[in-house]
Amino acid sequence: MTYMNYAEAPHVVTWELTRACKLHCQHCRAQAASKRHPDELSLNEMYWVLDDLATSFSRPPVLVFTGGDPLERPDLPDIIGAAVDRGLVTALAPSVTPHLTDEVIREWKKAGVHSVSLSLDGMNATTHDRFRGFPGTFDRTLEIADVIVREGLALQLNTSIGPKTAMQLTHLASLVKFLHVTSWELFFVIPVGRARPVDALSAEQIEKALLWLADFALDQPFRITVVGAPHWTRVTHQLLPQSPMRMIAREARGFAFIDHLGNVYPSGYLPVSAGNVRHRAFSDIYRRSALFRMLRDARQFEGACGTCDYRDACGGSRARAYAMTGNLVAADPGCIGTQTG
Ligand code: SF4
Repeated sequence: MTYMNYAEAPHVVTWELTRACKLHCQHCRAQAASKRHPDELSLNEMYWVLDDLATSFSRPPVLVFTGGDPLERPDLPDIIGAAVDRGLVTALAPSVTPHLTDEVIREWKKAGVHSVSLSLDGMNATTHDRFRGFPGTFDRTLEIADVIVREGLALQLNTSIGPKTAMQLTHLASLVKFLHVTSWELFFVIPVGRARPVDALSAEQIEKALLWLADFALDQPFRITVVGAPHWTRVTHQLLPQSPMRMIAREARGFAFIDHLGNVYPSGYLPVSAGNVRHRAFSDIYRRSALFRMLRDARQFEGACGTCDYRDACGGSRARAYAMTGNLVAADPGCIGTQTG
């Protein structure tokens, strides 16, 4: 098995700068609001966290600024500058609104931003714009994707995989290829925030989508990552048993999420906080909080995830287990291994 020392350091930290956003997306994890929260972390408070991220890990995590819409913060250029100055690989996940101009992309390139991710949740304007809640978002997403690539930034597209998008996977994949992405991240919907259980796939539907993805991924020039379905490692290993089994990053094991108020979560889809960066260093929360340590310890898991051969490499989505059963260590209801066992 290919091990990463995720107990020591996260691979990716996603930081929700604000919950304010002009869009109204159907599955919004953040249940974004039209106005900024008055108690958002200030720039001065962020400096301390950025210092910690840059100096406490032998390999600092990739830092993704998200929202809401990060462009709702007028001090965003200062935040980006502070992260880049500290040597952090910095990515932006903006909303496609009139704030996201070509000039903004050029400024981010000049400031040293590494990559920009955009959401693509439909193969055409009808499906994407209905999901995003605003007409014109699909066309503008394609335009701004082109600007990102032309400016020399890495482009990531993020797609929520639910009943509607799962049926469009082949078309979405063609579009993703056409847009010259560096990576495509597929989020298997977990019923938190605005997403309802009916917006998520069943275990059988997830398996079908992962099998399709495993076949598609074989000869793509870009990286493909999966969120919300760590049994991706089981599917790929079962198809190619001679390949090394990879330990997939998931909640508290490779990932962490900081919200706009400074609360630290194992992921943006698992609303149980392990502490707040206003009171405790992020690195200490990640390494030593009881919640994070428990979620990294696969021996704690119950049901099929506790006895599965892939328990250590996968361990199931803790966010889905919690959202659907209320138990952080329950078997992941999104895996067929937990349906038949
Ligand atoms: S049963 Fe659990 S640990 Fe095993 S592959 Fe499925 S989700 Fe992963």
